Amino acid sequence: MLPTQKGSLKLFRFAGIDVYLHWSWFLLAVYGISLRQGQYSSMVWNVYEYLALFAIVLMHEFGHSLACRSVGGRADQIILWPLGGVAYVDPPQRPGPVLWSIVAGPLVNVILVPVLSVMLLLSRSLGWPSIMPDTYKFIYSVWGLNLGLLTFNILPIFPLDGGQILRALLWFPLGRARSLITASIIGFVGLAGLIALVAWDWFSASNTSEGGKQTSLTWPIILCVFVVMNCGRGLVAGLAMLRADNMPRRSEFACPACKAAPPVGAFWVCGKCQKPFDTFATGALCPQCGIQYPITGCPDCRVSSPIDQWVVAAPVPPKL
Ligand SMILES: [Zn+2]
Ligand SMILES: [Zn+2]
Ligand SMILES: [Zn+2]
Repeated sequence: MLPTQKGSLKLFRFAGIDVYLHWSWFLLAVYGISLRQGQYSSMVWNVYEYLALFAIVLMHEFGHSLACRSVGGRADQIILWPLGGVAYVDPPQRPGPVLWSIVAGPLVNVILVPVLSVMLLLSRSLGWPSIMPDTYKFIYSVWGLNLGLLTFNILPIFPLDGGQILRALLWFPLGRARSLITASIIGFVGLAGLIALVAWDWFSASNTSEGGKQTSLTWPIILCVFVVMNCGRGLVAGLAMLRADNMPRRSEFACPACKAAPPVGAFWVCGKCQKPFDTFATGALCPQCGIQYPITGCPDCRVSSPIDQWVVAAPVPPKL
């Protein structure tokens, strides 16, 4: 349900991050520009509005990507599609870095609020509403666009940024599995609230006018499907994490990156013979084909480190 490079146009590369535009943005351009036709004396301003929306979403996504990199995560791709952009970020799987990688997106919109407010107040005091009504309307519309995106985005509905911020905050007291499960359930509850709101809006709109029904329901339905799929996926992943967390652990080892003790069992797969084995039982040696692995991946945070860096306590010597 997420856009991929397929069907996306590569726009440019900045700071090592490839920016793609999903084809559905062209649909949004036609829809958005026709919706707001007649607001300005010239259509050019509608195009400017669309470009401003594009710029705001892009800055938001760069916020995510650059923050993710600042904490040592991977982020090399941004795809812009009408449900906001998707920054493919992979921060280190600890609550602090994850929280920062998510907060940095909406933070860009928060910073834009006073910037755009000053521009709006300045243009008003310069008398632009009467001298340059198009410019004034444009600033006003961009101000509202940024505020609208921010408000929508921080709703605590997984996987919107607000839901992900909630999850990262819950991670501190609840741990990675329970925080993900809780955030996904809250997402479903939030979605029910959103559906009630949209339904109420739709019914009150259908009472006053006849035509607007189809157009006003398209985006909410797409959004609902998107939220349901992501909350469902979050719930499944959270339950899987909970099972993994409850597995017996080797207390004499700890991941150098996330400090988690590795689980006991054959959770590592040999790259040569494809057989699973317990790397901490064999000292990173495949028992099948005898390959010695220089680094061992952490099942919790996915960071790989040399196995001797994992040792925290001398293993219990075997009984004679
Ligand atoms: Zn975001
Ligand atoms: Zn780890
Ligand atoms: Zn092997």
